[in-house]
Amino acid sequence: MAVTHNGVTYRVADAHAHIYPGKIAEKATANVGRFYNIEMDEIGLPHILSEEGKVAGIDRFLVCSVATKIEQVESINTFIAQKCAKYPAFIGLGAWHQDITDVGGELDRIQALGLRGIKLHPDFQRFNIDAPNMLEVYAECARRGMVVLFHTGDDRMDFSSPRRLANVLEKIPEFLCIAAHLGGYREWEDARAVLHGTNVYIDTSSSLFAVKAEDARRSIAHFGVEKTLFGTDFPMWTPKEELERFFALGYGEAENRKMLYDNFAKLFSL
Ligand SMILES: [Zn+2]
Repeated sequence: MAVTHNGVTYRVADAHAHIYPGKIAEKATANVGRFYNIEMDEIGLPHILSEEGKVAGIDRFLVCSVATKIEQVESINTFIAQKCAKYPAFIGLGAWHQDITDVGGELDRIQALGLRGIKLHPDFQRFNIDAPNMLEVYAECARRGMVVLFHTGDDRMDFSSPRRLANVLEKIPEFLCIAAHLGGYREWEDARAVLHGTNVYIDTSSSLFAVKAEDARRSIAHFGVEKTLFGTDFPMWTPKEELERFFALGYGEAENRKMLYDNFAKLFSL
């Protein structure tokens, strides 16, 4: 599977995709759309992601789901692991909740399920990225080589601000994380001003529809082409249209290869 652009063929990984169990997929997708006041292109069902991705030529998907209640964590993680077993193109992240007290035990379970890290959405989950009790979680993830994918940035609230992630990195410089949405949705400038770190990745999801190409390139230059991952934020956008937006940034072949697949393959040791 591959994507061809300007006569060049690329492997592509999608570093940001949401999937939900069939029973709640429609409602969950609609809720996200309402929260961001953005019309959702798709419904977040695993088979739709797999099929749409195949049509678009995408090879790998980093899939996740967010737990807004602590009692959802276990079942979401079982669901993600089952879908990763069913769809070999999926790489899974576990859900987490800020009230979990047995940090080591829960991370053990996530790793035993074959999941590679955790996904956090501080605005939906309503906790500050730099909340003192989360530092233990980040330090433990860093120790285990697990990736933490953050929804970052929202100019309407402060839970997920790039500044708060920067506070964490001051304390845990080796922390391996992905600051989604070019480092901070609607706080792109702030992200460039305050956030940096050796193990900080960004993804391109849910930003390219809103920023000028030159601003996206500015963010990518700040964090580094080597630290940038292509992502769709499915089901918000279809893989095909996010790919078109990505190619419109106008990078050359070598840079495209890194951002579309090679950085992802290195991060997850594929
Ligand atoms: Zn997300």
